[in-house]
Amino acid sequence: SEALFLDQITKGYNRGKASAVEVLRGASLQVAKGEVVALVAPSGAGKSTLLHIAGLLDTPDEGRVLLAGREVNGLSDRARTELRRADVGFIYQFHHLLPEFSALENVLIPQLANGVPRREAEAQAQSLLQLVGVDHRAGHRPAALSGGEQQRVAFCRALANRPGLLLADEPTGNLDPATSDQVFAALMQLVRATGMSALIATHNLELAGRMDRIVRLEAGRVL
Ligand code: ADP
Ligand code: ADP
Repeated sequence: SEALFLDQITKGYNRGKASAVEVLRGASLQVAKGEVVALVAPSGAGKSTLLHIAGLLDTPDEGRVLLAGREVNGLSDRARTELRRADVGFIYQFHHLLPEFSALENVLIPQLANGVPRREAEAQAQSLLQLVGVDHRAGHRPAALSGGEQQRVAFCRALANRPGLLLADEPTGNLDPATSDQVFAALMQLVRATGMSALIATHNLELAGRMDRIVRLEAGRVL
């Protein structure tokens, strides 16, 4: 089964009001296991709305969502939250690392919260940091790291629980072009090393071209 299947999703805001807006109008999208898909769309086209629906943070008005082959419609809020925590990793333009904790601790915390023993969680966090080339900064707090290093640590944190699906919204949008290039390469290395599937929204066509497939979101549909 697919890592993600969005089937004929519609979603609007402020229904029935003067400010009503139809954002998604029958958007369908599949991400195969191990596939990395670029989602390209102009600002305001509904990328965040689509990613939130795919990550079970929001519900569609109509249409079906299947995550790892599992039909999500009809699940309780609690079951959706559990499925999201177990199966989805999120990466944003801004990293949201916890400032009081070291890079290593930031990566560890979600695993400890999931009941992974500390020693095992630490070893895994170290090896993830090593994969993206920031293991030498493991003991430093985020403020002591460069922007690119902070974002690499955020990638490790999002992937520490080994989710099947990574959802990323402009993961390098906050970085200068040269740093963005390196940090994106690090992200792809992580994704390939863990065999996960990913849907990555970006405005950067050069980065999009390095993914397995590009889809466009236009007029509420996926092309
Ligand atoms: P993108 O991520 O592609 O910039 P969004 O999914 O954030 O697009 O937004 C798509 C459209 O939906 C925009 O016109 C935005 O203003 C509108 N929108 C998004 N969220 C809400 C909301 N909670 N209430 C009302 N309108 C919203
Ligand atoms: P960039 O130009 O890539 O943003 P910086 O000039 O911010 O990088 O940092 C270069 C190196 O110095 C990086 O390895 C970074 O981790 C380190 N560094 C930056 N600020 C601090 C700090 N306040 N304390 C310790 N190390 C720092």
